Amino acid sequence: MKNHSAPRLKKVAEAEFPTRFGLFRIYGFEGSYGDRLEEAIVLKMGDFPDADAPLVRIHSQCLTGDVFHSLRCDCRAQLEISLAAIARAGRGLVIYELQEGRGIGLLNKLRAYELQDQGADTVEANERLGFDSDLRSYQLPGTILRYFGLKTVRLLSNNPQKVEAVERAGVAVVERIPCLADVLATRRKYLRTKKEKMGHLL
Ligand SMILES: [Zn+2]
Repeated sequence: MKNHSAPRLKKVAEAEFPTRFGLFRIYGFEGSYGDRLEEAIVLKMGDFPDADAPLVRIHSQCLTGDVFHSLRCDCRAQLEISLAAIARAGRGLVIYELQEGRGIGLLNKLRAYELQDQGADTVEANERLGFDSDLRSYQLPGTILRYFGLKTVRLLSNNPQKVEAVERAGVAVVERIPCLADVLATRRKYLRTKKEKMGHLL
């Protein structure tokens, strides 16, 4: 169920975080909506002086893509494009939301893969499993942007719903920067469904 009030935000940890893209700081956040908790990780590079609109990527966890380099989807490619762009700019944020498979959970995502192998697209597969095609609401990222004092951002995304969610949180998206992965045969149908059924700008 989508919840439309902003969560209460708590930073639970902050530490140095060297990566192959450069040196970040890593943060752990908890957002509470009444008694429901959501978690997010933030990677931050550099500082954001006033009136600076840093690069921001809001990324939803994809274990199969981010960890196992899956070519069924373009998640890892978008994450790498974003981390590289932030490193080139010397500043920016990745907000990594721990909500696997557009909010349906990892094992249900694998069940959806099984249905896709039998011909369903990603939207149909989620619906056949009894889920909305996309359960993500993106309220936690908006609250996190405000935590870092950001009033303007340049958003690394192909998803107009993320642009809307950030603006609903009171943060202006001064530029949307596409994150375009190579179109491979293994994910051509996945990308076409994102474009045709979910309105992504691909
Ligand atoms: Zn993915």
